[in-house]
Amino acid sequence: MCRLLEDRIDIVSGRALRSGALQPIPTRWHTLQEGDATYVVRVIDNLRRKQSARAASKERAKPADPFLDYDPELYVEDVAPAHRLLLNKFNVIERHALIVTRAFAPQTAPLTPADMEAALGCLAEWDGLLFYNGGEAAGASQPHKHLQMVPRALGPQGIPLEPRIKAALADTAALPFAHAVDRVPFDGPRQALAADWHACYCAQLDRIGRDPKAKTVAPYNWLATREWMLAVPRTRGEVAGIGINAMAFAGAFLVKDQRQLGDLKHRGVQWLLEQATV
Ligand code: AMP
Repeated sequence: MCRLLEDRIDIVSGRALRSGALQPIPTRWHTLQEGDATYVVRVIDNLRRKQSARAASKERAKPADPFLDYDPELYVEDVAPAHRLLLNKFNVIERHALIVTRAFAPQTAPLTPADMEAALGCLAEWDGLLFYNGGEAAGASQPHKHLQMVPRALGPQGIPLEPRIKAALADTAALPFAHAVDRVPFDGPRQALAADWHACYCAQLDRIGRDPKAKTVAPYNWLATREWMLAVPRTRGEVAGIGINAMAFAGAFLVKDQRQLGDLKHRGVQWLLEQATV
């Protein structure tokens, strides 16, 4: 019973895959070298996708709020009094988990100390990458508040942009887009840590021109590991037809087809990231 969070996610994933509740999006991945950064681009495998879509066509109607009226097959566990962990139904990466609020809260509301505490609980058990797409123009597709967690192994060398993110702690020019980045503490009592993380997150929002006290915060992405947190202001959900969410600022992209992959190569990742933030 004392398994690690990753093991518990794997058990639920195995069952959900067999029942068809989990519907991974098949992709093939490529690396893209630009300067000293190696980005990872996943291209949706349309042929296999069509086959899985046919298999899933007998699925029941979509719920209005899939995180309130969630599929019990995707439920992993309660991670805090006000949060539960679900599997991402349409995952591109294995072990893609969603930390959703039990009651509805809008995705555009600022993160709270309780959200931080729930996220830290997951991060304490699983050394993954945490991220938040704050609003539609930041890549969010669901309006119900959800943080997300994925494994650090996004590419052959982990989080593709992590070396640059760490370099930006000392030299802001290391990241080619508007941002705020900080080193974070990770040891100590959970509640005190959550308060520290929340204070750091609010200060970061301030620095990127977002009001952490607003009822509705203007679009931004937020990413965190056990070592650092990064906030990025956003202006548009896609650039040149390519959807950009928080994962892009970790150096991982998802494109629809080979044409978009060609476009990304042609325009350059750095250009794309700049455009998404101004
Ligand atoms: P985002 O697009 O960043 O707002 O993340 C929301 C995620 O929820 C998407 O990646 C979807 O794949 C996922 N999703 C959509 N419908 C469901 C569902 N019924 N159950 C679980 N996850 C879902």
